[in-house]
Amino acid sequence: MDMSFSAADLAFQAEVRAFLAAELPQRLRDGMNGTPSVFVEPEIGIEWQRILHARGWLAYQWPVEYGGTGWTPVQRYLFEKECALADAPALSVLGLKLVCPVITQFGTPEQKARFLERILTGEDLWCQGYSEPGSGSDLASLKTRAVRDGDKYIVNGTKIWTTHAHYADWMFCLARTDPDVKPQAGITFLLIRMDQPGITVRPIIGMAGDHEVNQVFLDDAEALVVDRIGEEGQGWTIAKFLLENERGGSCAAPRLLADLGRLEQLAQAQPGGFEGALGQDADFARRLAKLRLEAEALEMTELRVLGELAQGRKPGPQTSLMKLVASTLRQHVDELAVETFGYDGLQLATERPLYGNESPEPIGSKPAQLAMPTYLNSRAWTIFGGSNEVQKNIIAKAVLGL
Ligand SMILES: Cc1cc2nc3c(=O)[nH]c(=O)nc-3n(C[C@H](O)[C@H](O)[C@H](O)COP(=O)(O)OP(=O)(O)OC[C@H]3O[C@@H](n4cnc5c(N)ncnc54)[C@H](O)[C@@H]3O)c2cc1C
Repeated sequence: MDMSFSAADLAFQAEVRAFLAAELPQRLRDGMNGTPSVFVEPEIGIEWQRILHARGWLAYQWPVEYGGTGWTPVQRYLFEKECALADAPALSVLGLKLVCPVITQFGTPEQKARFLERILTGEDLWCQGYSEPGSGSDLASLKTRAVRDGDKYIVNGTKIWTTHAHYADWMFCLARTDPDVKPQAGITFLLIRMDQPGITVRPIIGMAGDHEVNQVFLDDAEALVVDRIGEEGQGWTIAKFLLENERGGSCAAPRLLADLGRLEQLAQAQPGGFEGALGQDADFARRLAKLRLEAEALEMTELRVLGELAQGRKPGPQTSLMKLVASTLRQHVDELAVETFGYDGLQLATERPLYGNESPEPIGSKPAQLAMPTYLNSRAWTIFGGSNEVQKNIIAKAVLGL
């Protein structure tokens, strides 16, 4: 494998760097650095989304005919790497990276015309209605019921852990349309408007104080038949397609490596256990190097998968491997961050947002204030998108053939 970048790649990298230096305001960088959550809130994210859209770089993963950039895998990777190094806001994947590939792959021309542009402009925000109380890992057992009534479905049930449902205009939702066939065959993929009387959103506050997830109640909620993706009963196929994108559609290594680089720097200003700075401590250096090696190995796998995607192949079950490694590493990096800040890293600021918030005064630095909320928030990485145990089952069956 040739690991060096071509002159064209290096020119592209310089172009991205210059763009970020000129167009990414400090306020948005601070917003990214002030959130313990996986995605930034829309008040930060949408502004960055619009800047990227204006440059034509928002939908870089989409097919070119729908606004994609046509970048090579290496360009795509370099872009993500530079964004991570520059503290660019982590945008919600729900519209841009989850429902969009579904609409381009399975949607009608009318659905593409109606939804895609509004995702790009940030006019429509989305949430994912898959999990239910009792149906998470065993998703095919879901009970939310959709009954056809003329040109619409009447939907009843409840969805849980619904990220950003409180911001969303639309939910992409799995509902049971046929209870009399085997569970996977009776599921349909519906797009449901959130601003209707049949929808109630109840906040769930995480242990770090974040309001990211919700329980959504559907009581005679309506979904139009024209807003159904694919055929009735095709929902399971579409759901799995989306989950593969959710697990492997984004590169995690660039941000992990950027965060490790930052920790290395910050540790130079932290007192070590004995003499000198923590950054000079042999044990700290060993742990940092181990995590960096693992993140670099993940980087290679992510580049390989990007290469396969560029050849038109599906992400496939190896995305479970990426999800497993990336989520575990994320937690280890966030754990090391707490330890890096010593006592200062133990404070738990629960007020939100943390960015732009000077009260109460943080103990120590801003990064120290963020360490514990981020550590607690990142416990969810090994659960959402399918738990690590479930990823191991998939790897055992579909990758190793056990
Ligand atoms: C922060 C966060 C955000 C989320 N956002 C969304 C969202 O936007 N939309 C959405 O639909 N869902 C969302 N989820 C839900 C998430 O997908 C589920 O929590 C996840 O799939 C696990 O399901 P569960 O919580 O029902 O746990 P369960 O399925 O009940 O699992 C409980 C435990 O049993 C283990 N387990 C279960 N089955 C097996 C098995 N076969 N073999 C071995 N171990 C097993 C699990 O690994 C886990 O440790 C989110 C979750 C979190 C934490």
